[in-house]
Amino acid sequence: MKHMLPPFPYYHASLEPHIDARTMALHHDQHHASYVANLNSALEQFPELQERTALWLLLNLSKVPEKIRTAVHNNAGGHVNHSLFWRAMSPGTRDGPAGRLADAIKRDFGGLEQFQARFDDAGGKLFGSGWVWLARAQQDGGRLQVCTTSGHDNPLMQGHYPILVNDVWEHAYYLKHQNRRGDYLKGWWPVVNWEEAARRFERSDRSAEQDPEAESLLEPVIG
Ligand code: MN
Repeated sequence: MKHMLPPFPYYHASLEPHIDARTMALHHDQHHASYVANLNSALEQFPELQERTALWLLLNLSKVPEKIRTAVHNNAGGHVNHSLFWRAMSPGTRDGPAGRLADAIKRDFGGLEQFQARFDDAGGKLFGSGWVWLARAQQDGGRLQVCTTSGHDNPLMQGHYPILVNDVWEHAYYLKHQNRRGDYLKGWWPVVNWEEAARRFERSDRSAEQDPEAESLLEPVIG
């Protein structure tokens, strides 16, 4: 099995003016594509790992030979996180979160605005390249939390189920916002796909290990 770049779920220009088409095209067609290509290349000499999903590889790095462990860590992580990121956004204005997710945001942050401020603050403070997440602890009573990961690490590596994610690598915003990461973070909310976040929240009752769909969602198969 070769890992494949998932098809883009909307047009590159669909998130204008919030995210420009050129950024989206470079981000998906070049950056994400390179993680997929580099992951396949790292696995070339290890056929026994080629049937594993990118998520499995990321969560089982100790079973990956040391020679390719760093390459698999970075590129499987890049593939998983970007696959989640494209789905975290959607064209067209949307209402905020609804249903159980809205209730949980209210319970754990005090309200949507407080959650968004916490998310923007964490994303702005992350040093270097990484990701900012709304995740749900699989222990601690299933509370929602904002967290960040460096490089292409994923909260599942710490047992936290990802609900919503934004990419704060410079390649996600530099063309439009240059060094102003805060502007990018604040300007991102109108394109958030709250339906997808709510769907992920419903699934978070199960751990990724017990949820076969959790992996298939990360690994959309083309054709
Ligand atoms: Mn990225």
